Amino acid sequence: MSFKVGIGYDLHRLVPGRPLIIGGVKLPADAGCLAHSDGDVLVHSMIDALLGARGEGDIGQRFPDDAPAFKGISSLELLRRVMKEIKEAGFRVVNTDSVIILEKPKLAPYFEAMKANLAPILEASPNRIGLKAKTAEGTGEVGSGLAVAAWTVVLVEAEI
Ligand code: MG
Repeated sequence: MSFKVGIGYDLHRLVPGRPLIIGGVKLPADAGCLAHSDGDVLVHSMIDALLGARGEGDIGQRFPDDAPAFKGISSLELLRRVMKEIKEAGFRVVNTDSVIILEKPKLAPYFEAMKANLAPILEASPNRIGLKAKTAEGTGEVGSGLAVAAWTVVLVEAEI
């Protein structure tokens, strides 16, 4: 067996008038992510972790934020494309673990719905998808509600 680990990080500015979408779930919020795509910070960190595990660069190289094709696109669709490559290379996801850093709303009530979106794309059962939420305790841009951030680590394996 061959194992590869990857890490991903993302941050988006929060602005009024945009939907807040995390893990493919639209959350009740006064502000959402400023982004070229739907700004799903969790999924972007997962994509970077998956690309990183195989030394394949990052989301910005793969899906440029000035490309009309990706304007407003669901980040779950981008994740689907990256997972297709992972599978074609003979790899599968062992597990992922993520931390989302956001002042509000509380995310735990939405984790099940996020996992229901992510599990079929990652082809991993929900208990292989770790989701955790933290606040920034009122400090910095995230703590002031001006931004949301996410970290993900992923482990993939192949029989090679
Ligand atoms: Mg992003």
